[in-house]
Parts: sequence; C-alpha cells; structure tokens
Amino acid sequence: MKTGNSQVREPYCSYSLSGLNSWKVGGKADFFCQPENKEEIFYYLQWARKQNRLVTFLGGGTNVLISDKGIEGLVIGLQKLKTFREWEEADRLHINALAGVSKSQIMQIFLKHKLAPALFLCGLPGDVGGGVVMNAGVGQDIFPKEFKDIVDWIRVIKEDKIVLIKKEEIKWEYRLSKGWGPGLIYEVGMSWPVEPLPDVQERLKNMALKRTQSQPLQSASCGSVFKNPLTGEKSGALIEQCGLKGYQIGQACISKKHANFIVNMGGATAIDIHQLIQYTRKTVQEKYNILLEPEVKYLGRWDDN
Ligand SMILES: Cc1cc2nc3c(=O)[nH]c(=O)nc-3n(C[C@H](O)[C@H](O)[C@H](O)COP(=O)(O)OP(=O)(O)OC[C@H]3O[C@@H](n4cnc5c(N)ncnc54)[C@H](O)[C@@H]3O)c2cc1C
Repeated sequence: MKTGNSQVREPYCSYSLSGLNSWKVGGKADFFCQPENKEEIFYYLQWARKQNRLVTFLGGGTNVLISDKGIEGLVIGLQKLKTFREWEEADRLHINALAGVSKSQIMQIFLKHKLAPALFLCGLPGDVGGGVVMNAGVGQDIFPKEFKDIVDWIRVIKEDKIVLIKKEEIKWEYRLSKGWGPGLIYEVGMSWPVEPLPDVQERLKNMALKRTQSQPLQSASCGSVFKNPLTGEKSGALIEQCGLKGYQIGQACISKKHANFIVNMGGATAIDIHQLIQYTRKTVQEKYNILLEPEVKYLGRWDDN
C-alpha cells in the first residue's frame, strides 16, 4: 500500500513479543507493525478497521504483562516514532517528541540545560507516550516529579484524525492519565522554565545510586508491580512484612532487593508472573485487609485465567 511517496509493508503475522517487553515474557501478536510516521499509523488503523481486528498499542513495553497466549488482532509498536525537537522561547525550554522517543533521551535534553525535570526522569525506562499514559514519575518529594508536571499538550490519533488535547483537559491520576482516550498518543509537548540548577549533576548521581541500591535493575522486571495504596502504605513494605521476599512461582520471584518487584529468574512465563501477582494480593489482603492494585497493564488473551 502507498502513503505519499512511501511504500507501507503489510503487518507481520504471528510476531513474537517476548523481546519487546522488559519482563521478556508473553506470546505472539496475531499481527504486528511498527509505523514510522502518522500516515503509516492511519494506514494500519484503517487496515485493522477493514478487517474488524482489535488494536493494541505497545510503547517501550516496560509496564505490561503480555499473555503467553499472545495478543489478538493488530499490535502497533511505537518504537520507531523517534523524532523530537527542542528549542527555547519566552524563557522556557520546549520539547516536542513523538511517542517512541525514550524517556532517557528527554532526560538528556533537560540535563544538558541543567533543568529540574532531568531528576525525575533519571532511570525511568520506556517511552514518552507510555510515560503520559502511566503518568510515570517518582515518589520522592521533588518538583517536577511526574509527567503531569512537564506536559503542555498531547496529540492523540483517534481513527482518522489527530486531536490536540491540552494538559488541563487530561485527568491526571497517580500512575495513570485519563480523559484523552481511546486513541494513540502520537506526540507530546513538554516545557520547563530555563532556570538551571547548579547541583543537578550531583543530585542526579544520588538518585541513580539510590535506584541501583534499592532496585533489582540487573533482572528482567516491569518495575513496581503494584501501586501504593491511597491510604499511605507502601506496597513494597506490606509485601515484605508478609514475608514474601524471595517467594517464587515457576521462574517468577518476588525480588529480595525490593518486594514490589517481580523478577524473571530466566524462564518465567506470563502465567507464573500472573499467579505470583494473585498470590501476593491474596496474602496482603488476608494480613492487612488491603487489596493491592496492579500498576502493570495486562495485554492480550487473559480472559480464562
Ligand atoms: C526497572 C524499571 C523501573 C521502573 N521505575 C518506574 C518508576 O520509578 N516510576 C514509574 O512511574 N514507572 C516505572 N517503571 C514502569 C514503566 O517504566 C513506566 O510505567 C513507563 O512509563 C511505561 O512506558 P512504556 O513506554 O514502557 O509503556 P508500555 O509498557 O509499552 O505501555 C504501558 C501502557 O500504555 C499503553 N501505551 C503505551 N504507549 C502508548 C501510546 N503512545 N498511546 C496509547 N497507549 C499507549 C500500552 O498499551 C499499555 O497499556 C519502571 C519499569 C522498570 C522496568
């Protein structure tokens, strides 16, 4: 199929997704594509519509649990949407980035200008689009501390049009944003006042060190599995107090370093991880009467589990 001057390839059939998520688990997408621009996205969305197929979006894959039975329909991988632009205007640094630009690239831009957003972005994996979906950020008492604080607008592709949604129209929640969907976050506009922090390098080093000391970054994981309860407790502490550190189902294990991380010991399946999530929820609920809510998003065929 042709869009403009370029030839768009048909989606791949039966495409393995285990290499495209940070837990390194999961089955295949019935169909998979990696568009490089909005014309290709429109083409693939139309392709799916015509064939009456479900569509699922995949960013950096650092917050998803993909079923061993794979994902029905078309998975649109956003990893090739890599263009960004930065400029200064009216004493603010502006960055416009397509969904697949990594958070670490955005962090590097803020760092180059010694600006505060570099701090919360330090060590955050995945892409900018996924960062907005999840309102990704850190628990520390810093400002800015999550995407909500730096985003001005997003452009969302809805079927055959692009809609501009301003920051104020988005309903920002703890590790979630609402009010923009359904759709694909295609582009994100961010900005921050040009007020350099002299000690940004030093603080960044400390934050990175804290992460390496407290998180199992050498193992495959999706970061924190559960949100912290709104009542103020820390999920990791609750899980640890239940004695679950090191508890294992199949090759999925509750990290001994950080109890809110489940790590893949090598050959874990998605169902191992799912069962460990369920077991953890049940154990914490029985002991503390608190039902932990997963932060991680389940993708694919989970209905009969
Ligand atoms: C080691 C490690 C540490 C982590 N630490 C943190 C942390 O400190 N703080 C934190 O908040 N998170 C953390 N995470 C979780 C994760 O990195 C964030 O949630 C991240 O923002 C997810 O981005 P992603 O691009 O990987 O999204 P994905 O995992 O690909 O997707 C997440 C969800 O968003 C949807 N989606 C993705 N992109 C788009 C798009 N463009 N349009 C529409 N829908 C989309 C997907 O369908 C899925 O439902 C960590 C993860 C790891 C592995």
